[in-house]
Amino acid sequence: MKNEVTVTLRNKVIKKFKSGYPLVQKSFVESTHMLKDEGMIMNLVDNNGDFIGKGYYGSQNKGIGWVLSHRQEDEIDQSFFEKRLKKAIHGRKGFYKDTDTTAFRVFNGEGDGIGGFTIDYFAGYYLINFYSEGIYTFRSLILESLQKLVEYTAIYEKKRFGKQGQYIEEDEFVAGERGDFPIIVKENGVNFAVYLNEGAMVGVFLDQREVRKKIRDEYAEGQSVLNMFSYTGAFSVFAALGGASHTTSVDLANRSYAKTIENFSLNGIDFEAHDIVVEDVFQYFKYAKRKNKLFDLIVLDPPSFARSKKTLFKAEKDYTNLLKETIAITEKRGTIVASTNCSTFNMKKFKSFVDTAFKDMNVKFRIEWEYSLPQDYKTLPEYEEGNYLKVLFIRLL
Ligand code: SAH
Repeated sequence: MKNEVTVTLRNKVIKKFKSGYPLVQKSFVESTHMLKDEGMIMNLVDNNGDFIGKGYYGSQNKGIGWVLSHRQEDEIDQSFFEKRLKKAIHGRKGFYKDTDTTAFRVFNGEGDGIGGFTIDYFAGYYLINFYSEGIYTFRSLILESLQKLVEYTAIYEKKRFGKQGQYIEEDEFVAGERGDFPIIVKENGVNFAVYLNEGAMVGVFLDQREVRKKIRDEYAEGQSVLNMFSYTGAFSVFAALGGASHTTSVDLANRSYAKTIENFSLNGIDFEAHDIVVEDVFQYFKYAKRKNKLFDLIVLDPPSFARSKKTLFKAEKDYTNLLKETIAITEKRGTIVASTNCSTFNMKKFKSFVDTAFKDMNVKFRIEWEYSLPQDYKTLPEYEEGNYLKVLFIRLL
């Protein structure tokens, strides 16, 4: 049995929680002194002691725990986890059946009813990401449920709750047969190399699936493409397969070079016909301007926060400037695909960055498409921050 404590919510947030808001933040509760052990069950009450919801204590950057249920009689036990997992798996039936796409999210934290962890599927392999020590105390219940509900080649896990939410390095194999990495997954018929036992990132960000498809199917044909913050080149691969005349991938990390070549090769693309540049994007902007290089299609997919030797990039502060640098090297009538995964601002704010950047550069534009998370990244309407992905297809006029 887990220890249980009563936690009093402040008056100003009662309505919010009654309507389904799932994240308990420190400033929302009267006192936190009784929260001693991660994983404790929190019974959330109002000032009169009336029951509001039940959750667990688990510190993440964004909060101190998640609401799990609004029914006082619910026990947070094996069958509770199993029910939520079962529902989530059932909801991805279409993905399991699709032989063209073999990588998708099976369980998306609070969107599937339990905040603090996610489960991804990669061609027979399952990867669980745990985001707090608190949720990790439920590890055996989650594992047992998963093992009961699905067939698998292997299960891997990642702990994402080191200092400041950082990734903790260790052997991440949990059950099944150890994988021989990379394993090859498919996304809309395209191959990607995936490494489940090598750092926090596995080689592909599944939440951009629809954006990659859009670029391949409707934007790439005949275009010169610049992929900024390219990581393993996923956008470049889709652009090349969509008939791009040329792609340039730019990323600061040394690993990106070999991994981009690998993904090109896995799809029968001659990587020597493309440029892969290991460099700070802000240096590359300078270089492109000096050489009067212009691109038809530029993809911008920076991290929310990045520090390099020369620059500090914070999406909420610096995205406008990033766009201005980009506009300066985009062809007339070209397209910028601007993406951010920063959850501290919403789509409206993101659009205001676009407005400001284009106004400052004195260029007219039209937004042709906007994307947020795909269907397998289930989110709650009551928790807008959970739908962190924002992507705009912007046409220069
Ligand atoms: N667009 C990629 C994901 C980007 S992840 C995809 O679709 O898969 C963010 C990447 O930005 C990382 O690979 C990191 O190495 C890179 N990065 C961070 N700061 C950078 C900088 N200043 N210049 C170039 N790349 C940078």
